[in-house]
Amino acid sequence: MADLERCVDFLRRLVRTPSLPGEEREIAELVTAEMRALGFDEVRADEAGNVIGLIRGSGGAPPIQFNTHLDHVDVGDIARWPHPPFGGEIHDGRLWGRGAVDIKGPLAAQVYGVAPLLERRPPGDVYVTCVVQEEIGGVGARHLAGHLVTPVVIVGEPSSNTVRRGHRGRTELLVHLIGCSVHASVPERGINPLTSLGRFLVALESAERGEHPELGRSSIAPTLLSTDQTSANVIPREVWLACDWRNVPGETGADALAALRAVLAASLGEGAEGAVTIPEFERRAYTGLRMRIPAENPACLLPLDHPAVVAASRVIDEITGEQRPVGIWEFATDGGHYAAAGMSPVGFGPGDPYLAHTVDEQIEIAELEQALAINGRLALEVPR
Ligand SMILES: [Zn+2]
Repeated sequence: MADLERCVDFLRRLVRTPSLPGEEREIAELVTAEMRALGFDEVRADEAGNVIGLIRGSGGAPPIQFNTHLDHVDVGDIARWPHPPFGGEIHDGRLWGRGAVDIKGPLAAQVYGVAPLLERRPPGDVYVTCVVQEEIGGVGARHLAGHLVTPVVIVGEPSSNTVRRGHRGRTELLVHLIGCSVHASVPERGINPLTSLGRFLVALESAERGEHPELGRSSIAPTLLSTDQTSANVIPREVWLACDWRNVPGETGADALAALRAVLAASLGEGAEGAVTIPEFERRAYTGLRMRIPAENPACLLPLDHPAVVAASRVIDEITGEQRPVGIWEFATDGGHYAAAGMSPVGFGPGDPYLAHTVDEQIEIAELEQALAINGRLALEVPR
C-alpha cells in the first residue's frame, strides 16, 4: 500500500476510535501499535498516558518534536451530522468525522510524514508525541513538557497547511459575590449581589488590559452566570460569574486577576463582598495520574524572522508552489505550555481550523497528502 493510502486507512481507524478527554486508552494503544508497525525505534507511554514515538537521528543535530493530541471535543447532537461522526466516511475526496481536522488528520500526517526518515536517518532525533486532554486544559502537555524538552516543537493543530507562529493565551476567572439573602418582597432589608454584579459587568470593558503590536488588545468576556437560588422570589446571597480572558504575550493570569480585582473593588455596593480567583481543576488521566491544574493557558508568539518559522514557511511554499502567508491562531493550543517550558512552538497542520469543533468536520485527502510531504521535510530542514 502506498504511504498515502496507509495514512488514510490509519486516519479512518483513528476517527472510528472515540477518545474524549480522560478516555484515550484505546486510541493511545492504536497509535502505539501503528508506530511500532512502522518501525519507530522506540514507542512508549509516559505516566500521563501520552504516546511518545522516536526515530533516532545520526547524532548530528539537536532533536525536534512533532506534537498533536489524542482527545477531541464531544460530538453534540448526532442527528445534526451530515455523516456519522465516528464513521470516517470518505465523500468527494474528503474524510469526515469528529477529529478529522482536530486533530486526528494532523496526527496521522505527522506519524506518516516522518516515518520515511527511518530509512535515511535524520541528523537529529525526531520525536512524535500525542498527548492526552488537550481540550480541557492540557494535562498531557503540562506533564510532557516536564520531561521532554526539544528546542523546536511542530504543533500540529489545523492551519490549512500554513505556518502559525503563535496565539493569545486563555485564562478563566471566577468572580464570586456575596450579599445578604431576604424575601424578594422586601429587597431593602437585604443586600442583592446582582446589583454589584450589574456595575461590575458595565465596568468590565474598562478593565486594565495588555496590548500587543501584532495581536492587539487582550479581550475579556463574561460567560457563565449562576446564583445560589432556584426560587425567583428570593434575593440570592451568592452569585458566580465566569469570565474568559484572552491575554496577549507578556501578560499573565496574575495580571488579569489584578485587573478584575480592581474592577470588582470599584463595583461592590455597601455590605457586599466579593473575590476573583483563577479556578483550579482536578484532572485524572486514563492511567490514573491525577493533576491539579489552574485554568490558565499561556500565550506564545515566535517572531516572523525566527529561523524555524522562516524555514517552515520556505518548505511549505516550495511544496505548495505558492507564497502562503504566515499566520496566528485565533484559539489557544498546547503550544503555550511548550513555550513556557522553553521550547519554540511552530504551528503547522492540515485541515481547515474553522471546521474544528463543528458537525461539518472533514479533511481533504489531497491536503493530507501535501502535509505528509511537508512534515517529512520539516523534520530535516527546520533549524534547532
Ligand atoms: Zn486540537
